Amino acid sequence: MDKIMDIFQIKNKILFLFFTIVVSSCSKTIELKSKNKITIELGQTSVSALMIADGKSRLTFEYSIFDENNQPVKNITPVFYANNLKIDGLEFKTTKSGEYNIFAKINDIKSNVIKITARQSIEYEVVKLPVIVHVIGDLESYKSVSQRFYSVPFLKEKINLTNDILRNRVKGNLRDANECDTFIELYLEEKAPDGTTLPIAGIHKIDSPLGEKSGDEVLEIIKKNFWNPNKYVNFYIFDKLKGGAAGYAGFTQIGGNISSTPVNYIVMDKGIGPFPHEFGHYLNLNHPFSICSEPQIKDIPLYLPTPDSNKPTFYDRINCDGIRFTSFTPLDYGGYWQSYTYDQRKVMRNVIDNGVGIPTPKNIAKSGRISVGESNNIKYFGNNIIYCNGQH
Ligand SMILES: [Zn+2]
Repeated sequence: MDKIMDIFQIKNKILFLFFTIVVSSCSKTIELKSKNKITIELGQTSVSALMIADGKSRLTFEYSIFDENNQPVKNITPVFYANNLKIDGLEFKTTKSGEYNIFAKINDIKSNVIKITARQSIEYEVVKLPVIVHVIGDLESYKSVSQRFYSVPFLKEKINLTNDILRNRVKGNLRDANECDTFIELYLEEKAPDGTTLPIAGIHKIDSPLGEKSGDEVLEIIKKNFWNPNKYVNFYIFDKLKGGAAGYAGFTQIGGNISSTPVNYIVMDKGIGPFPHEFGHYLNLNHPFSICSEPQIKDIPLYLPTPDSNKPTFYDRINCDGIRFTSFTPLDYGGYWQSYTYDQRKVMRNVIDNGVGIPTPKNIAKSGRISVGESNNIKYFGNNIIYCNGQH
């Protein structure tokens, strides 16, 4: 013991720590020659290194400690730091935006550093977009044919769900560090283009046979039933879409003149399942899958499809770097469909500010040159249409 005490006098606290660990591991042979007897490995349990400085967004971490033989060391807890400030355990929240270096320390032994960015929390003006849902089908068959959409409460449920996602009100224990309130909402418009009150708010029925419709047939119906896009988000509900698509939508044109640029609309089959998904496309959001390069959105991991990835219960994805993550975005085919992210909001708010043919407060105020049956001055329908079939 005397010999050991001598060594202590010339060694620093790190070695004392190591000594403690080794003793607690019941080892009989104690060698205190190297300063690097243990190593601390800090890892991040979320894929993105981005978060929001709103005091709620949090990034979480995990750590491992190894001895000189690369064996795990238990029963010792490091102290965690963000820059040089101690943080409380394995999660980090902040209200101050900026760059942070996260690391763990045990005395003078320091882990690897994880660099993260906390982005400024932003509040926008709430924008409410009026929706008209053009329901295609034989009017007489509505009463007898059992189709979920023809229940108005079912449509309202979908609108409410979409609004909950848009306003980040969906409850769930698992949270995305980049989820945020887009300050965008939808509502069912009560007025027809001629100013009269619609029999059912937000619904315009089109007399056309039920059954499968091809892309050309769909477009012909849209052209004849296209309401002023400066005053309505035009949704179209068909009985069945050829090719099995659950829905599709285009990208809204940024800048330009409405008469010479493609106007946008949303098409779905009667299940109207992908409502928040298609509305995301309408506000220029891409799918997060199928490519691994040049992401439009930096705070959602990209992934390539796997045979299992379209299963509705498949919430866990493996990103392009091979890291497992939980999917929260409605722009995925599966996952929790819980929220839009900070970067997605940036794209969406740009459409709100600068989109052509979208019923934002700015555009609604413009004179409405286009009304029922008067879509001749629109030359192009659809811009960068994205087809969504629920399968990769
Ligand atoms: Zn899609």
